[in-house]
Amino acid sequence: MARDNFTTETVNSLGKRVGFLCSNPGCGKHTSGPHSNPAKVTIIGEAAHICAASVGGPRYDVQMSRDERRSIENGIWLCSSCSDLIDKDADSYPVALLKQWKAKAEASMLANLMGIQAKTKSNKKPYLEPDLIWTGGQRLNRGYSHKNPITIENGVAVRVIGGGSSLPIIHWEIKWKFSLAIHNNSSHHAINVGIESIGNAHFSLLEKLPKINNIPPFSSIELKAEFLQRIEDTHKVADKIFDHYIPELAEGLKLKIDYLDEDRNSHTTIMEIFENQMIHTKL
Ligand SMILES: [Zn+2]
Repeated sequence: MARDNFTTETVNSLGKRVGFLCSNPGCGKHTSGPHSNPAKVTIIGEAAHICAASVGGPRYDVQMSRDERRSIENGIWLCSSCSDLIDKDADSYPVALLKQWKAKAEASMLANLMGIQAKTKSNKKPYLEPDLIWTGGQRLNRGYSHKNPITIENGVAVRVIGGGSSLPIIHWEIKWKFSLAIHNNSSHHAINVGIESIGNAHFSLLEKLPKINNIPPFSSIELKAEFLQRIEDTHKVADKIFDHYIPELAEGLKLKIDYLDEDRNSHTTIMEIFENQMIHTKL
């Protein structure tokens, strides 16, 4: 039976991309080391197929072409026992899980590389730093207010809009749009990030995070956030309110950002708007 094997180059690249560590997060074993012959290397890992190389094999995908089956995308570097394990119990190790292992192992190796380049002693724990980026605003006219006086003209009630020296009173909807960026400026994963609004002010809209999530080292996520204020007043008053980069009604906003590190220890960053400034602290 034809097997769509990886090329030697693909096998080597898969191993090198994860520093020859097993990609199973529960294992992480070294798979490369010295041989008794000083000119040789011992390798106890292998480039395993995510979708099997031949018909009937574990996670075999009939839709895949021969080239896709032997491409680097279809491989994951594992130690020999983990490679055995994922094939003997394919149902417990589906394609999506193996792809997740691979992505995680590669991201972690990249973080290690970056840590070395930056010559910084890595902070053992993840640290999430939020940032509020203004992306736009709207001041929408939602119609004339009933507070404008009424007169009778030709037997019909007419609302006087801005008659005399008074400005018309309008229903305004004032919106401030932000991107709430959460940066992971550490070399550790921040897992299952949760955001809770615990202050005296709240966003009128804050995009939700998926329940299961992960912000890899040196990356960030952005969530849409909005403040909405409705007033019934003149455009002069509306303009004055809209003029603020951070709305006055945001004063007292307090977000509790919780996350876990790879050892399941919990961490918290607090973000607050205080005296028109955004500040954050790690607990
Ligand atoms: Zn392993």
